[in-house]
Amino acid sequence: MKMQDGGTDPPIKNSLLTKRDFLRFCSTSLCALSTAPFLGLPRTAQAQAPVKGLVKTKLSPYFTPLEGGEIRCDLCPRQCRVPKGKRGACRVRENRDGKYYSLVYGAPCAMHLDPIEKKPFFHVLPATQSFSLATAGCNLQCKFCQNWEISQASPEEVYSYDVSPELVVKKAKEMGARSIAYTYVEPTIFYEYMLDIGLLARKAGLLNVCHSNGFINPGPLGDLCRVMDAANIDLKGFTETFYRDLCNGELAPVLETLKTLKKEKVHIEITNLVIPSMNDEMSVVKEMCLWINKELGPDTPVHFSRFYPLYKLRSVPPTPVSTLDKVRGAALSAGLEYVYIGNIPGHEAENTFCPKCKKRVIQRTGYMVGETQVKAGKCRYCGKPIPGIWNPA
Ligand code: SF4
Repeated sequence: MKMQDGGTDPPIKNSLLTKRDFLRFCSTSLCALSTAPFLGLPRTAQAQAPVKGLVKTKLSPYFTPLEGGEIRCDLCPRQCRVPKGKRGACRVRENRDGKYYSLVYGAPCAMHLDPIEKKPFFHVLPATQSFSLATAGCNLQCKFCQNWEISQASPEEVYSYDVSPELVVKKAKEMGARSIAYTYVEPTIFYEYMLDIGLLARKAGLLNVCHSNGFINPGPLGDLCRVMDAANIDLKGFTETFYRDLCNGELAPVLETLKTLKKEKVHIEITNLVIPSMNDEMSVVKEMCLWINKELGPDTPVHFSRFYPLYKLRSVPPTPVSTLDKVRGAALSAGLEYVYIGNIPGHEAENTFCPKCKKRVIQRTGYMVGETQVKAGKCRYCGKPIPGIWNPA
């Protein structure tokens, strides 16, 4: 049982590991990398059963009052106009008497200790653990969503825990995490919670990392950049048609987010889920890679992930490995230097190769990290700087 970030393992329900599941998992798995959410929490918290329909409010800093008590949410490009008593499209924000509130502040429905490679981040503190969390809700409706059971749910439909930002940071430290990851659903929709945890995490010496769809407005993104160290952005396709028809979203704002993150010096990695016949046309893949090279730089790590049939795309077959190899070839010929293939454990493209001397500098199998030859952010063989956030030498 595990929540999924950018890959395509089967999704799970909003049923987090029970303590018994966890103990069984640890006893049978050599890579005990996902933990019961409340295993490490204090007795008082452990005694709390997850609550179905837990709603915890926080006033949103990003809305504009309109006539007649209606508001416009300014958090993401959807810019929902919400009448009194109603909610925005993400299902977790509500107009109460002309003011707009988050309904999920301090109410995560998913918390796990994950390897940071699972986010996926391949250039951020390799082989460390990331305390990962999500609430209900999302601002897109992707037909291939891996976590649709929580992303396409309201707070009333899931089981959530009552966990303050202080407690998240405390437990992350106690459990040995080096970072906090805002992930599984689009973290923009629990923006206030993410920002408050992020500020505390910074003070506690933890990194903040997110896996996001990049569908956020420039104002809130600017504030978020002050605490976010690294972002893995889903670039789901490279046409407006794909975003409109499969995600109920738009491509242009995602590209703007990527450019802003670059300008603000947030470490960026990109995930592209390659879906047969939907976004695997080589000319479009090439165009996307050339855009990444030009706007973000050739040293931007890109993860091409294998699709497996799920949610509303159950009739689409898994991505052939040959397609992923072709896509990777197109990315390399477009000049990208760090091109990975995800969801095929054991594939050679899980490893990091130095673009200068071509030697393997980080060896990986799935989420397991083997030999590492990156020292103080440089290739140990030839001294070429490798982009990322690395452990001290
Ligand atoms: S964050 Fe939610 S309520 Fe706000 S504009 Fe986006 S979808 Fe609408």
